[in-house]
Amino acid sequence: MHFQHITVAGSGVLGSQIAFQTAFKGFKVSVYDINDEAIGKAKGRFRELMKRYQEDLGASEEEVRAAYERISFYTDLAEAVREADLVIEAVPEVREIKTEFYKKLGQYAPKKTVFATNTSTMLPSQFAEATGRPEKFLALHFANEIWLHNMAEVMKHSGTDEKVFEAVIDFARAIGMVPLPLHKEQPGYILNSLLVPFLDAAQSLYIRGIADPEIIDKTWMIATGSPKGPFAIMDVVGINTVYNIVSAKAKAGDEEARKLAEKLKKEFIDRGKLGVATGEGFYCYPHPKYEQPDFLKG
Ligand code: NAD
Repeated sequence: MHFQHITVAGSGVLGSQIAFQTAFKGFKVSVYDINDEAIGKAKGRFRELMKRYQEDLGASEEEVRAAYERISFYTDLAEAVREADLVIEAVPEVREIKTEFYKKLGQYAPKKTVFATNTSTMLPSQFAEATGRPEKFLALHFANEIWLHNMAEVMKHSGTDEKVFEAVIDFARAIGMVPLPLHKEQPGYILNSLLVPFLDAAQSLYIRGIADPEIIDKTWMIATGSPKGPFAIMDVVGINTVYNIVSAKAKAGDEEARKLAEKLKKEFIDRGKLGVATGEGFYCYPHPKYEQPDFLKG
């Protein structure tokens, strides 16, 4: 099983990155989205990505232009998948939207076509039946800014064919990702299975007044040699995202989460301190304290 024609469905933040990275590595890519307006936005995203690949990776103007020329655009799903060996789905993280999408895709795509979902918070088994081809379906999960954070979690559900799993692992490698195979379904994959409890523990130390964020980060950095502690990581993730997760826990009745959500709203969000993206969060950017040589000395 070898993939040549790739279709990316949904051309938002992640879909546009997946499509561009795939084209940059020499594949022909069909991009599908729901209407001309969405495709127009995607074209704007590709223009931005062409700049970032030059700035961040030192790619030449010709290389990024050639990548862009390998991409074609569709608002008709049947046409978008006519030749597809692999469809990578990056449509909104809404269960009903994904289910409807897979039902249609299952009808229009050729029998040979493999489907991969980029879902962050759901499991492939939730959509396996809707695809009509559970054995040719699995998750292929990328990280935001995939040209820099070049990893891809490849996760089977219990009905995924082993050959499909291996072919998608090979494909991930072919587009410059480090493939990270997960042999069983796991909510949050590997990364978030580690990261979420880690950040939770740091937040709990903070909200219970045990230690300040800088001290918590210092502890982690000195002890493990890691370049960032949990609060520096929250600044990268974005305080809004952290707030949304904490608020959901607060709504479910978690008292510590309620206190933390209140604090994040008052002291960070209402003051525009959303993390690296706005230049301030737990630290000030572009030269955060934890990057300064004396941070770990005193
Ligand atoms: P987004 O909102 O930026 O993009 C979604 C795109 O899907 C839009 O272009 C929208 O027009 C299109 N769309 C809407 N309905 C559609 C339909 N029925 N068929 C086809 N396209 C449709 O979302 P995103 O952040 O790119 O997330 C997409 C997927 O990627 C989600 O499953 C998300 O969990 C996952 N993901 C996101 C990130 C991230 O950092 N944003 C990281 C990893 C994985």
